[in-house]
Amino acid sequence: MEYLIIVIVLVVLVLIAGGAMLVRSRRRPGRARGTEPPPAAPPPAAPPPAQPPRPGEGDGAGQPDLLIPTVTGPPAEVAEAPQPLAGRMTRLRGRLARSQTGFGSVLLGLLSRDGLDDQGWEEIEDTLVGADIGAAPAAQLVSELRTQVRVGGARGSGEVRALLRQDLIEQVGADLDRSLHVARHGDRPAVVLMVGVNGTGKTSTCGKLARALIGEGHTVLLGAADTFRAAATDQLETWGRRVGAPVVRSDREGADPASVAFDAVRQGIDDRADTVIVDTAGRLHTKTGLMDELGKIKRVIERQATVDEVLLVLDATTGQNGLRQARVFAEAVDITGIVLTKLDGTAKGGIVVAVQRELGVPVKLVGLGEGPDDLAPFEPATFVDAILG
Ligand code: GDP
Repeated sequence: MEYLIIVIVLVVLVLIAGGAMLVRSRRRPGRARGTEPPPAAPPPAAPPPAQPPRPGEGDGAGQPDLLIPTVTGPPAEVAEAPQPLAGRMTRLRGRLARSQTGFGSVLLGLLSRDGLDDQGWEEIEDTLVGADIGAAPAAQLVSELRTQVRVGGARGSGEVRALLRQDLIEQVGADLDRSLHVARHGDRPAVVLMVGVNGTGKTSTCGKLARALIGEGHTVLLGAADTFRAAATDQLETWGRRVGAPVVRSDREGADPASVAFDAVRQGIDDRADTVIVDTAGRLHTKTGLMDELGKIKRVIERQATVDEVLLVLDATTGQNGLRQARVFAEAVDITGIVLTKLDGTAKGGIVVAVQRELGVPVKLVGLGEGPDDLAPFEPATFVDAILG
């Protein structure tokens, strides 16, 4: 009888202990540990995360939490998914409407005249020069058109348009490699350095590009190396919040930009980001000052990663002045691509041809407005079609 009581007590104890363990193990999944991915976290490559990474958070791939003071990234305010990069230029071609009323239609009008004389051809050349295409490309284009029209005899307006279209596409460079190198290599993120004069749209371009890349499934980190203007850093931070990208910044105005760039890339490596986009200061103080500054930023980044793109941001509405800026920057640092902003605000799209010729590097992206998706990969044929209406 005593044995029976002892056995019953033991069974009851075992049942109680088992029940307690069951309850504990059920609770555990809700309290994510450092090594377990949080259940609600989106997959790393998913297009824009509903709940983008906050500063110092793990990357959803089992990283322990990290918190360093220079990273900021309040909860993202990503309202809607970014438009895919492909096809953006076609979607935004209406923004080139001002160009449509500009040199494209003037050229077509001139070319459609019966019996073009020397004066008529001069007018065509002047129109091209007036559209910022540059003197040499304008002369070349006119000479080609003249030959084509002479050889082919009098042509209808449709044929003339087709000739002009073809020649313009050639001038713009249909076969230039305009691909953006933004994919991580090995354990290093790709690094994009954004350079250009203040006011050209550099900071917005960083934000818009980050948003587009996040939409394509990349993880992006922004570096606020324009430390000379507190407003620029704040603006980049706002973009980071909007697009869901952490921002590495300095708390001190006037801090060494190279050191912020270094920290950003370091953080990008730790976070296993795909792309780090570094915004720089665009003061055209002296050429040597600029060279020193950009050279140092690049050298410091290259201690730990490769600088894959140096994108020069130019305001398309500034014409010759923009070209002068381009020259100075090209002497200071090796540019790999041009971002031509505010093309929506000019009737003179010829600057695309002029700047590519000047620097020998392609226009890779164009800005066609102030909205977060108003940045498009540049497509020569779409551009020329929009200009010709
Ligand atoms: P930053 O000083 O070079 O960094 O220039 P910001 O990014 O601050 O841009 C300067 C102004 O240009 C802002 O008002 C932008 O909204 C505007 N902007 C930038 N890109 C474009 C564009 O493609 N089109 C238009 N219309 N405005 C733009």
